[in-house]
Amino acid sequence: MRLDRKNENRLSVNPVMVSALIRKDGTITSAGEWHYTFVGKNSGLPFYDFLPLADGNLLAATIQKTLSDPGYPDMPKGEVLLELITDLDNREGNTYSGVYLCLVATDDTENGEPLARIYYSDLAGVSGTIERYTYNMAKYRYFMSMRNDIFFEYNTDTGNFTLYKYFNGNCFKIADMDLDEYISGIQERHIGDNHAYRGEMEQIVSYLKNKERNFSMNVQYSLPGGEKRSAKLMGGVVPRYDNIVAGIYSSNNRASDEPYYMTAGARDPGTGLLNKRAVTEYIIDMLPTLSDKTAWLIMIDIDDFKNVNDNFGHAFGDEVISYVADSLMSVMDARGFVGRFGGDEFMVFVYGVPTREALKNMLKALHKKIALKYDGKFRLTLSEGVSQYPVDGKEIDTLFAKADKALYIAKEKGKNRHIIYDEKLHGGIEGDHMESQAVSYAISRDKKREFITSLVLGLSQKGIEYLVRNRNLQRDIRTVFDLDGFSVIGEQGMEALLTEGKYVLEDFHPDEMVTFDFTGFTHMGGDDHTYVLNNVETIRDSNPMMYERLKKFEISACVVCATFSGDTPRAIVSFDVFNRIRKWSQSDIDMMSILGNLAGALLMEKENR
Ligand code: GH3
Ligand code: MG
Repeated sequence: MRLDRKNENRLSVNPVMVSALIRKDGTITSAGEWHYTFVGKNSGLPFYDFLPLADGNLLAATIQKTLSDPGYPDMPKGEVLLELITDLDNREGNTYSGVYLCLVATDDTENGEPLARIYYSDLAGVSGTIERYTYNMAKYRYFMSMRNDIFFEYNTDTGNFTLYKYFNGNCFKIADMDLDEYISGIQERHIGDNHAYRGEMEQIVSYLKNKERNFSMNVQYSLPGGEKRSAKLMGGVVPRYDNIVAGIYSSNNRASDEPYYMTAGARDPGTGLLNKRAVTEYIIDMLPTLSDKTAWLIMIDIDDFKNVNDNFGHAFGDEVISYVADSLMSVMDARGFVGRFGGDEFMVFVYGVPTREALKNMLKALHKKIALKYDGKFRLTLSEGVSQYPVDGKEIDTLFAKADKALYIAKEKGKNRHIIYDEKLHGGIEGDHMESQAVSYAISRDKKREFITSLVLGLSQKGIEYLVRNRNLQRDIRTVFDLDGFSVIGEQGMEALLTEGKYVLEDFHPDEMVTFDFTGFTHMGGDDHTYVLNNVETIRDSNPMMYERLKKFEISACVVCATFSGDTPRAIVSFDVFNRIRKWSQSDIDMMSILGNLAGALLMEKENR
């Protein structure tokens, strides 16, 4: 741990990290300012005298032995000779306890005599510094996230040019390449024969290459369609780093030019996290910039969250979700970003954790943090499914399908654990109808909402016929929710009113209607009778009758909306998946529930007429 003292104005408070050159006799030849402040008029005493006796003797012995060694000058500079945690006493009544002291080899000499270097520091000072540093980093990242500006940095030694934005507390690189390459790319794509703009471009390049101390200019340009744009550019050489020219590019672009995830609407109002569409699109944009560096997609779901709601109320449930969101953000820090996928489910993308071991440690830290929070009240746990980029896939669809499958397995295995997807162990995802999953995945929640809204409107105006007669609409429902089958069963005809999809059996028998039993399904609560089943195998023992029936239809997962009269369901709207496990997202369930219950009610109304 060798830090150079950088922050001069902290000297009067405590030593951050002091460096001093020490002679064989223990006296100091030169030291940082704080050293002299601390030792005061005793600066002529051997340094050993400021240490407790035993430590002083040990230091003296090490220095004398090392500096007398004829091989010392060949010793690599910086090699650690001794490390101590000790106390310092300036013999004037000022003491520091818990000081970290480190003796290292150096090639500095005094009148040809070898010297050694001592670093010492108040431990609390060091940890305080790191804390302050981390705090400042987080703060500035946060500030910069609030700005719409683009930051640039040019390294005059390497010629490398970086453009980045801050977003979600993270640095988001827009370009990272040789400046000349970047400029020629821009010219090809945007400028062409636009001489005015070409002139501005050359001006900027000369500012960068000539290490202009301070510059500021307005840039005017037109888009290919002719629309005029303007931006302001400011920059200069970074103080103390004169090979770096950095600055800000503030575009006057309208917000609509921004990717969706950078807009205010991309936030989940409850937690402030990116919403599902935002996190998805952000990942899609991020993947090509990774150039095959390891990254991880993690699907996270709170275990038994329904119990939390049931036992402590919905408001408390919301608080728990916020706590989990904050914990995810803080554990992730700048190594990735977090989105709320809906309900108690989160999607996390991690690009700053290089190895599997490091990832496991991160998840371990997360689990520990989570588990202690409500200690005594209940035990909060999470399950995670992880897939690895680029090993498991290079597209979000594949990565998502694999992480989701791993999450499902984590739940199956008893929850409170993470599963990192492994094709050999967990099987491929081909059987899971990846393609159609991708389709539904690509449809954002907003689009789905729009679709459901128009459907509900049509149903309310035209009644159930609107749905029954419209084959395309039925197909759309299947696509939007990635279903294999969709059916509406009414009592009157004693058979399915409509089925869309390739059901292995077409007919429902009349007696089956009255014997619908949802034991083992998840009841979604509220006034609606919506029942969710993720995997038919989970009801094999608890509900053999339904198990047999679903198996007969090869339905492996479903969301069923039942409209009852008394205890008997009179209408059933079923959203089905065949022969594959399905973990329904909360928002999909909500939307299917709205649709299914409305359709059921309309059907009942019609049959009662
Ligand atoms: P599992 O371990 O299998 O995940 O069980 P679970 O009880 O957590 O079940 P699941 O994840 O399927 O259910 C999530 C529940 O979260 C369903 C819904 O009632 C509840 N929920 C969804 N969104 C919110 C929310 O914003 N606030 C609260 N309080 N509850 C929510
Ligand atoms: Mg859950």
